[in-house]
Amino acid sequence: MEDLKSIIRNIPDFPKKGILFKDITTLLADAKSFQRMVDLLSHRYVGEKIDKVVGVEARGFIIGAALAYKLGAGIVLVRKPGKLPSETFKKTYDLEYGTDTLEIHTDAIKKGERILIADDLLATGGTMGAVVDMVKELGGEIVECCFMAELEFLDGKKKLPEGKCFSLLKF
Ligand code: AMP
Repeated sequence: MEDLKSIIRNIPDFPKKGILFKDITTLLADAKSFQRMVDLLSHRYVGEKIDKVVGVEARGFIIGAALAYKLGAGIVLVRKPGKLPSETFKKTYDLEYGTDTLEIHTDAIKKGERILIADDLLATGGTMGAVVDMVKELGGEIVECCFMAELEFLDGKKKLPEGKCFSLLKF
């Protein structure tokens, strides 16, 4: 995994001072690394009968769509407010300063469907915690929340259902 980790670029003080931003675009742009990352992640869920993968805007769409294709599942989008055209369910959650809101189409998940949620990176867990609540609210059964990478020192796992969090690369 060290080769995959090392291809992720570190950008200091982005988007604000004090944050070391993990820029995954360098991994996505490298054909072999992208393919390996998708193969490794999707392999974990083969045989899990995933009905739908939920991808979180925006980098979660890339990973989510690739996983859904590999697993023969549908892809569902969780988006920022005002982007989804049909009836939505909204969830507002706390950030370090202030709040943020995400939306999902109310008919995107049927009761009892087996759901894998995908995002690029787990930091504080606030975003994924909100997505978990939305999927549960619509009656989905969460198989796991998966990430390409995790910032372990932020302990975002504690905001997610116990034992339902997997990240390929740990920083
Ligand atoms: P959080 O809600 O704190 O877990 O943050 C999750 C979202 O913010 C992820 O979708 C990441 O894309 C982004 N994010 C937060 N911190 C970083 C970071 N240090 N580097 C890159 N992306 C980050």
